[in-house]
Amino acid sequence: MRAQSEEPETRARSHATPPTFSIATPVSALAGIGPKRAAALADRGIATVGDLIFHLPSRYQDWRNLTPLAALVPGTTVTVEGELGKVVERPMRGAPWRRLASGWLTDGRARIRVVWFNLPGYMRGRMPSDARVLAHGRVSSAPDGSLEIVQPELHLLSAGTPPPVRPYYNLPAGFPQRLFSSVVTKILPEVAAQIEASIPAEVRHEFMPVKTALMGLHAPGPDADVKALNDGASPEHIALAFDELFAFELALGLERERAAQRSGIAIECSGPRTREWLSSLPFTMTRAQARAIDEIAQDLRRPTQMNRMLLGDVGSGKTLVAFWAALSAVEAGCQVAMMAPTELLAEQHHASFQRLCAHTGVPAALLTGKVQGSARASLLRSLASGAMPLVFGTHAIIQERVRIKRLGLGIIDEQHRFGVFDRARLKALGPEANLLMMTATPIPRSLALSLFANLNISFLDELPPGRTPIQTLLFAEKDQARVDAIVREELAAGKRAYYVLPRIDAPDEEQRSVAATAERLRRDALKDYRVEVMHGRMSGADKERVMAEFRDGAVQVLVSTTVVEVGIDVPEATVMAIIAAERYGLAQLHQLRGRVGRGRAASRCCLVASADADDSALERLQLMTRCGTGMEVAEADLRIRGPGDLLGARQTGALPLRFVHLVRDYRLIERARELAEAWLRRDPELHSASSRPARRAIKRMLSLGFSLGDVG
Ligand code: ADP
Ligand code: MG
Repeated sequence: MRAQSEEPETRARSHATPPTFSIATPVSALAGIGPKRAAALADRGIATVGDLIFHLPSRYQDWRNLTPLAALVPGTTVTVEGELGKVVERPMRGAPWRRLASGWLTDGRARIRVVWFNLPGYMRGRMPSDARVLAHGRVSSAPDGSLEIVQPELHLLSAGTPPPVRPYYNLPAGFPQRLFSSVVTKILPEVAAQIEASIPAEVRHEFMPVKTALMGLHAPGPDADVKALNDGASPEHIALAFDELFAFELALGLERERAAQRSGIAIECSGPRTREWLSSLPFTMTRAQARAIDEIAQDLRRPTQMNRMLLGDVGSGKTLVAFWAALSAVEAGCQVAMMAPTELLAEQHHASFQRLCAHTGVPAALLTGKVQGSARASLLRSLASGAMPLVFGTHAIIQERVRIKRLGLGIIDEQHRFGVFDRARLKALGPEANLLMMTATPIPRSLALSLFANLNISFLDELPPGRTPIQTLLFAEKDQARVDAIVREELAAGKRAYYVLPRIDAPDEEQRSVAATAERLRRDALKDYRVEVMHGRMSGADKERVMAEFRDGAVQVLVSTTVVEVGIDVPEATVMAIIAAERYGLAQLHQLRGRVGRGRAASRCCLVASADADDSALERLQLMTRCGTGMEVAEADLRIRGPGDLLGARQTGALPLRFVHLVRDYRLIERARELAEAWLRRDPELHSASSRPARRAIKRMLSLGFSLGDVG
């Protein structure tokens, strides 16, 4: 079947094959890949031979172990051998435009049916009767009780023995699997000499060479461990991931050293006004906050740029640390810009600053998209002249027209919500400005140290005193009334409540929409309270008004989309109901849940699972009820290996790592950092010949649009 699968195009073009290839050769030069197929591959980012050989199989089929037909069990995936009788095609019942092909496979002792809904192109009209074949697929029970394999892969034994383990690739529609596979395995040995590992041979240790790994992934041998291959946990996968990580960690290490040399505005933080403000606060800083403040003060004092990340669980009090840094910088004569990902959050920061810091006499402005016209013009003037010392805002801060005369400190709240370019733009506002980034990304400490190795990190690993842990409860959709009853209980005790829904208004999903839910609550369950809505389609002024009323207690129930996810801080809110909770990742649920439990009173978070949520989704939600802290959530996430849930797509997308699974490989990431640091001690500027491939790998990462100053 292998030979038969070769398309006419392959044969016609094979004589035109150029004699030598390099990894830079366009794929269109390869036998079997005409202009159409080349274009389809290019759409998937596969333009050159180099791209092709690094396009790894997405899964593997094991053709080595044959199961006797008499021993088949429904639900298992098997390879079987037998005589295939005549395959007949007929229109499908109920869908006559589709053709159903079926035949019987016998091995002398038993027989099963094989069925195709649409005969694969390579089989159409070519299926010999009474051929000995191998078939691979999943066994199921037909309605009549007999066993069948639907849509099996076939291999004609007359075409020779099949490859023991067959790779399958994510390919453009209609691109033949076997063509891709044969092109890769043919070209790989030819260009092998040009494939270099970034990791120097001296420290490669336990990892196999990259070329060997690629060969093993594209053409697994007879002893391959298919489970490991399918899990992405084979030594080959690990070797590729490690090679990439090593270059990445080298790049971070280099950047950290270079940044430490870059001149930055030195800020002396022991000004009397800031000290006075600290003692005026209605509470004392936690030990973790005090430690972070110390660390920031030491950074700021130096005439080099600060690049510090403040990592702290939701509610750990990052904002106060930021306010302290801002006041210190202003007192030292600098301007400060603090950027947040949403208008709501920027407004809240501005308002909290007024509440907590107005008595220091430091004026602060708010710059969001809705500050327009003359107000905007005069604000921009005062920032450019240096008259306005402190500005809170959104992306509006980093738009073209904004100039800040003496930016000494840029602060980015919820930094994981910003792209790398946003951070670069904020820095560009003040070439010598210090940078403080804050995030509640739940990430184990050691992973944070490795992934943000170019930054200094302060961990806020302590919540302010007097917090009672949030109780998280899981409900089925049909028990919504019980959730409403819990909310009513809290409201009766004078507290406030959030409902979070995935849709704003959706006729097809009424019970999951903000509009319909607000209606329902007003009509009935919460008719004695004021229920207001909040979502991204409302005007800034409306949002601000509703938020203020909710904060002050005039509104008791906020029915909202996830716009309240980040940063919103209303200590009197003690209950949150998250509807269709299965739609969110663990990290996001943890962020959302963090909107309650911000005061002394006990808080509850009710997760409501939709009726159609599947078992694995329910299991995740169950986990949420047991994990209280961000660290517990992060570790649970590591255990169940959720798909990139941990850092969120945005963040991982910003990293130039193709083969690394941040969750799966986190031990590997630490090891790469250790080895990279050791290597940098030997060759700090990567000038030795052994470092040359690593330099090239780093350059490649940079060419992918990855900017070192902005990792993290
Ligand atoms: P996050 O780290 O999630 O941004 P916030 O900075 O919004 O957390 O702080 C959460 C709440 O805790 C706020 O209401 C804040 O005023 C309060 N808070 C911060 N630090 C302390 C402290 N040391 N003692 C008591 N309350 C604090
Ligand atoms: Mg915050």
